[in-house]
Amino acid sequence: MSRYDTVVTNGRVVLPGLSNLAEVAIGIREGRIAAVAEDITASEADEVVDARGLAVLPGGVDSHFHIGIYRPIEQDAASETESSLVGGATSIISYFRTGSHYLNKTGSYREILPEVLGKADGRAHTDYGFHIAPMTTAQLDEIDWMVGEAGVPSFKYYMFYKGLNLAASSTDAAAYTMSDSYDLGHLFAMMETIAEADAKYGARGRVSLSLHCESAELIKLFIERVKNLSLPPLEAYSRARPALSERLSIHEAGVLASEARVRINLLHLSSADSVRAVREIRRLYPDLDIRAETTLHHLCLTYDMLEGQGLGGKVNPPIRTRHDVDALWDAVADGTIQWIASDHACCLEELKQDDLWPAQPGFGGTALLYPVLISEGYHKRGLSLERIAQLVSSNPASAYALYPVKGVIAVGSDADLALIDLEREQVVSRELLHSAQDHTPFKGVSVRGWPSVSMLRGRVVYRDGEVVAAPSGAFLPRPLSGRRQAAVTL
Ligand SMILES: [Zn+2]
Repeated sequence: MSRYDTVVTNGRVVLPGLSNLAEVAIGIREGRIAAVAEDITASEADEVVDARGLAVLPGGVDSHFHIGIYRPIEQDAASETESSLVGGATSIISYFRTGSHYLNKTGSYREILPEVLGKADGRAHTDYGFHIAPMTTAQLDEIDWMVGEAGVPSFKYYMFYKGLNLAASSTDAAAYTMSDSYDLGHLFAMMETIAEADAKYGARGRVSLSLHCESAELIKLFIERVKNLSLPPLEAYSRARPALSERLSIHEAGVLASEARVRINLLHLSSADSVRAVREIRRLYPDLDIRAETTLHHLCLTYDMLEGQGLGGKVNPPIRTRHDVDALWDAVADGTIQWIASDHACCLEELKQDDLWPAQPGFGGTALLYPVLISEGYHKRGLSLERIAQLVSSNPASAYALYPVKGVIAVGSDADLALIDLEREQVVSRELLHSAQDHTPFKGVSVRGWPSVSMLRGRVVYRDGEVVAAPSGAFLPRPLSGRRQAAVTL
């Protein structure tokens, strides 16, 4: 019997705390990393994965995802996690809420969460968890159960749903959220409840609230203003949801969170002003645990780049300007932003057509998680591979109670790996991305640095542009640390 099931040899490996790549082999047994050493030989393993010429990074943790928002969960869970493997992401955490879209219903999460898990079961190509948005007062009472028993220690509030008439679509906020009171009062009560759950369960893993920071009242005003200007649609959309709206919401979130003492994550920062606001509230509330996220598209695209390409790039918060892109990269470099995710939502072109205002927001990007970071971060801006591994793997894993089972190449961790060809250059096309989405706003962007192989719990699941294994992704009940790590005997 061999000592290891699999050994990954000849690669240059990103290890925590090491700024240089290490020329070590990785021995894998029963899906976990059993050894990281120079002297492991191929003969000690049943299977050898040759990583010659490749950089070996921990599998990406794409922590902002929307499985089943516009299509059945069963379909998205299969096709969209396949897309994740292309970008080296081996775990995703998807948002789910009651209300419009998704299952298009409301009710108790004790009933609905098992239904969601049942629909995803056996279909995903990556491991996956869920963040849950408590939309109704009754659902607030389920937070303790979700954290303590259901494996969901992270929640979401959408600040711009409050009182918003979702511009020209006929839905009003109450019909959209199917909520009794979706406002700052609901948010504050949610914060208090999550803080209580953190006090009770937080020693096992971080319990937190994620916020979509935009202001409904300001959006309403600015939509009316831009309607009178004849601007290209995505520029109009950016001006209709200005950075001022993000900045105000971030401050509101800071005030309420500092009072409720809840840990918060500020999602998908899109603008120079939003970055400024995060720095401001960190100064105002130095004891508060405030983490910040941005997305691949906000780091890569501008509305000028997308002009004349239709509404495929409509997303909340909007794609903005080169000035904002540069400010976000500065915030990534100086540590203001902790992680980068795709905010992947498979949104078909038929939902995007014709009129700007009713077109559905969102699009996919998970296949570009490592590629955009390597291309724009490592090659163009000199970010180290160690830092990139933090941004797309260890930091989101830590924030969402997956670390160190996920997010790091270390003995005892799951053997989730992205073997990346740093020099491979490809122009993005829809076909490259392996998503069911029939368009991509990243089309035509040249990207240098792509995974050649993605491994999930020790198995090669993606190689050279092809998914090579049946779906083997499992639900990740969080906190993962403790529960599964304890079972490792090495
Ligand atoms: Zn999102």
